[in-house]
This record gives sequence, structure tokens and C-alpha cells, in this order.
Amino acid sequence: MFDTDAFAGHESVHMFHDDATGLRAIIAIHSTALGPAAGGCRMWNYVDGEAAMRDALRLSEGMSYKNAIADLPLGGGKGVIWGDSKTQKSPELFRAFGQAVDSLNGKYWTAEDVGISPDDIKYVGEQTRFVAGLDDGDAASGDPSPVTALGVFKGIEATARRALKTESLKGVRIAVQGVGHVGEYVCGHLAKAGAILTITDINQESLNRVSKATGATIVAPDDIYDVEADIFSPNALGAIINDTTLERLKVKAIAGGANNQLATADMGEKVRQAGVLYAPDFVINGGGIINVASEISGVYSMPWVESKVETLTATLGKILDKAIQETRPSSEIALEMAKARIKAAHK
Ligand code: NAD
Repeated sequence: MFDTDAFAGHESVHMFHDDATGLRAIIAIHSTALGPAAGGCRMWNYVDGEAAMRDALRLSEGMSYKNAIADLPLGGGKGVIWGDSKTQKSPELFRAFGQAVDSLNGKYWTAEDVGISPDDIKYVGEQTRFVAGLDDGDAASGDPSPVTALGVFKGIEATARRALKTESLKGVRIAVQGVGHVGEYVCGHLAKAGAILTITDINQESLNRVSKATGATIVAPDDIYDVEADIFSPNALGAIINDTTLERLKVKAIAGGANNQLATADMGEKVRQAGVLYAPDFVINGGGIINVASEISGVYSMPWVESKVETLTATLGKILDKAIQETRPSSEIALEMAKARIKAAHK
């Protein structure tokens, strides 16, 4: 663990194995400086244990920064279950994972991530109270996508204010990649604000529904990068900002909810040099974790969630202003700010 390139001063890493259910899981805790570590659990068929370890280390570090920048009293952690989510799921497996989470006595709070549904997490919740993302219960926060989308919409407004010098999105041309859980709600907000939308997805049914509701023009998945637009809003896949796509994009700003948008860290500087203002992904998409944080607090409160989204939008504005002022990549500034908050909490 100490030798892998993904190790970033993690506090602890826990490995679990359960013969009866076949559970093989890793819970990585990057930091608890700001509060208990929180981050979802991913189920993935890794090629080997090293790949599972690297993912757990990398994702838990990312959660520390996402939680810190959203000003939440939470640290960063992540669970990974090594297995095929299509063939190896069982209630017993998730109960065993619930016992693993419980054995950490609240140092780590789990929730859904890729490969794990609210139905699965229900079984985790039978064994531990340190679980969020439940559909039922006193503090259940339900689907985080509407709150994520609200944050993304406000983030697009904040980015447009700086990149396009406009207070209103009326008439602003926005190319949206992905109209799934987050993208569909984002499109709803944007259409209401008067933006002119071009959308793409690999799901024709979603495209038709969103186009009908918002008047958006539909393009093929690969054509989204060539659209004559003011803003590109990625809400589907990671690693979509690379040398090839950057060269094709004609926009003044990139602002969307997808995780890990920059294919490599140096793309932050390349995007800046191309004259494109980038809303760092882990800042603009923090609405979902804010929603989960409210559930973790024990009392779900929409006004609290909304006020946190406002604070997050203000933080995004500060990051973008600093990036413009100092002619530096916004991604670098966001990371610096998150790290500084964690360091201050340590002190
Ligand atoms: P989702 O699976 O509901 O939506 C993703 C959409 O992208 C789907 O409609 C899918 O068909 C589409 N898609 C897949 N491949 C595509 C391609 N090649 N071109 C165009 N579209 C494609 O997922 P979601 O919950 O809406 O999340 C979207 C992104 O936002 C992900 O990167 C996710 O990690 C991130 N995110 C989501 C939340 C949340 O609250 N759901 C919070 C933070 C970040």
C-alpha cells in the first residue's frame, strides 16, 4: 500500500474477506480531519487485487477533496467490493459488507456508487447504521441527482457570468453530453432559464423525452464536441476532456456534473491555454454529497441542503476568479483550496 502511486498519506486501509458469501472488499480512509470519512461503495470486477487497491486509494482521496470543498463536516473514504455486479450480488454479500462497515465504528459512512443500487444498500443497512442513500427511514435522502443537477445549474450560471460576461443564460447555447439522472434535470433548469440546448446520449428514449420537454436539438454522441456552442456540459462519462476533444470544442467554458472529466491532470492547463474556463468537476457536482451529508447528520433538511449548494456555488465563483486573476488552471486552484481546508482542520 505504501509503495503504490495512489497512496496519498491515507490514514488507514481495511481489507475484508468472508468465506461464506465470497465478499472481498477494501475500505480506504484517506482523511478524517474534517469528520467521519464518507464516500460510496463501488462493486467492480477488477483485474487483480492491486487494481482494486489502487481504485480504493484514488477514490477515497478524491472524496476528501469533494467533501472539503463542499464545506461538509466529513472526511474522505471509499469502499470497493471486488466482484461482478451482474452475477455475484446477493443479500448475504451486502450484509457481510454491512458488518465490515460496522466494524469501523462510524469512522466510515457508506452509500451507493457504480454497480450498487438502493436495493443492495438496504441489506448493508440491516447490519450498520453508518449508511446513507437509503430510500426509507427518518432521514433518508433518496435520489441525489436533483440536488446534484441544481448545483450543476448554478455552477453553469456562475461560469457563464465569468466566461461569457452574462448574468442570464437566456439565448446562451449549451451542448449537453448525457441526459441521464443528472443531465435530464440540468436540461430542465437550463431550458427554464432560456438556454438553447443541443443534447446527446446513447439512449434514444431519454433523448426524445428531454428534447420534447426542452426543445433541445439532438446530435449523435460523437458530434457533441463539434457543436457551435458557448458552453459544453458533460454529464455522462469521465476522461472526456483530452487533447482530441479539446481541439474540437468551440466553447468558451466547460461546466457539467460528470466525475473525473480531465483525462489527465495536465489537461487543466491545456484547457486554460485554449481560452476555455473550466468548472472543476468535484466542485460543481458536490450537490449529491451535500444531499447525502444531510442524511448522515441524522435529520434530512432541504433548507440546509439548499444553503450548502449556495455556499458551494460561491466557492466555485472564488475558484474561477482566482484562476482568471492568477492565469492558472482552475482545477489546480480547487485542489489547493480543498487541501488547505483539510490541513487547517488537522491543526
Ligand atoms: P446516469 O447513468 O443516469 O446517466 C449517464 C447518461 O450518460 C446515461 O443516460 C447514458 O446513456 C449516457 N451515456 C453513456 N455513454 C454515453 C456516451 N458515449 N455519449 C453520450 N451519453 C452517454 O448517471 P448520472 O447519475 O446521471 O451521472 C452522470 C455523471 O455525473 C457521472 O459521471 C456521475 O459519476 C456523475 N455524478 C452523478 C451524481 C448523482 O447525483 N447522480 C453526483 C455526482 C456526480
